Amino acid sequence: RPHIVWLRRDLRLADQPALFAAAETGPVIPVYVLDDARAGEHRLGGASRWWLHHSLDALGRALAERGSALVLRRGDSVEELCRLVEETGAVGVHALRHYEPWWREAEVQLAQRVELQLHDGNYLMPPGSVRTGGGQTYRIYTPFGRALRRELPEQAPLPVPALSAPDTWPRSDRLEEWNLLPTKPDWSAGFAADWVPGEAAAHEQLARFVDHADLYHEERNLPSIEGSSRLSPRLQWGELSPAQIWHTLDGQAGEGADTFRSELVWRDFAQNIILTFPEYQTQNYRQAFERFPWRHDEGEIRAWQEGRTGYPIVDAGMRQLWQSGWLHNRVRMIVASFLIKHLLIDWRVGERWFWDTLVDADCGNNSVNWQWVSGTGVDTQLFTRVMAPLTQSDKFDAGDYIRRWVPELAKVPDRLVHDPPEGTYLPKIVGHREGRERALAAYRSLRDDQ
Ligand code: FAD
Repeated sequence: RPHIVWLRRDLRLADQPALFAAAETGPVIPVYVLDDARAGEHRLGGASRWWLHHSLDALGRALAERGSALVLRRGDSVEELCRLVEETGAVGVHALRHYEPWWREAEVQLAQRVELQLHDGNYLMPPGSVRTGGGQTYRIYTPFGRALRRELPEQAPLPVPALSAPDTWPRSDRLEEWNLLPTKPDWSAGFAADWVPGEAAAHEQLARFVDHADLYHEERNLPSIEGSSRLSPRLQWGELSPAQIWHTLDGQAGEGADTFRSELVWRDFAQNIILTFPEYQTQNYRQAFERFPWRHDEGEIRAWQEGRTGYPIVDAGMRQLWQSGWLHNRVRMIVASFLIKHLLIDWRVGERWFWDTLVDADCGNNSVNWQWVSGTGVDTQLFTRVMAPLTQSDKFDAGDYIRRWVPELAKVPDRLVHDPPEGTYLPKIVGHREGRERALAAYRSLRDDQ
């Protein structure tokens, strides 16, 4: 009798412990269920759907080459999986653990109805397993990172297992029926120019990064060059496991590879936070901020989303995000800080926009970073730290970056491009000093209130 392998954000064949365990026991039926209702407001955004379509397509083809197939179903995950177990006479379901609150709930419900075997494999260490001496979740990254590295087992990633097919395949939707790709308007041309989703392309990308990982600590902060790995959507969709990446870098000493490993650990840290505080994506961790006098101005929100704030670095970032589904980390921080501090708009508005527009939109990484920038989260970043976008732009040498994404400024030289003279570019939506003072006054009012 076959086993069902329930795939979610783990769209790979290698180092896939659920697939590996199922394949050891007999025929396997790999299944992906498109389940929009469970995530509620956080159903997959447009950019994620684009990635998902292409990644499922690549996975389906890779499975077919191995004499297997990918079964696609749409509806409630638990109901669909129970139905499939019944239709196929499967022994049960294997899956990797996921930590979004809606997936944890689904796992509990499914385990009550069928034999469910959950495996770890999407994080360096299983979330919840790295704890303080007193058994608590770490709320500060540095000691968490130290503990994780101490405890990380040395283990080679799993190979792609040999797959045997069931006697008959259950019915599958056709991927095209799901309409995951945008049509009217089709905004995805820039995505296709920048990305090839799927496991094979993910491995090629990793190999390219490894060649210059030794420079990572210097280059990662410069948005003009490809200094960081850009592996975030690969990790988000599980086309690569973090263990595979860690293992590939084995033996690379030096500050570049080591700084990069620390970033990978951040991803684990974020997942521990949402495991402990499942409402982190929608609620301020620091409760006092529920009374914060946020502004709500649709026009300004739209100007930020469309890259029309009058700050070239912010506009370049927001246009890159819209056109290619990805944004450099330094620029994510700048645009997030601008929305929260200069425009005084609730971080959740930004979180939602990123959720819809990023190909790497991730429940943990997105909310933990937004709450970090806004000073509302578990760690110690202060609301009163207001990033100066023009200085940041200059400091991180973003001239070429701006010229690429803001064509109006393509011919403007370095000395003017970060802060073009009045009349040569869109007027600033708010002055730097004015925005900063308004933000600090709002924060003071919150404190006076206590
Ligand atoms: P690299 O610098 O090459 O790092 C390697 C990997 O480490 C990344 O792919 C990522 O998985 C992980 N990583 C790096 N930085 C962080 C970080 N600060 N927090 C957690 N993990 C990290 N990352 C997402 O994957 N999804 C998101 O939805 C997301 N939203 C963000 C929102 C804001 C406001 C900010 C400031 C950051 C956000 N990040 C998010 C974190 C970070 O910006 C991206 O992971 C990174 O820019 C991806 O590029 P890269 O793969 O080249 O990263």
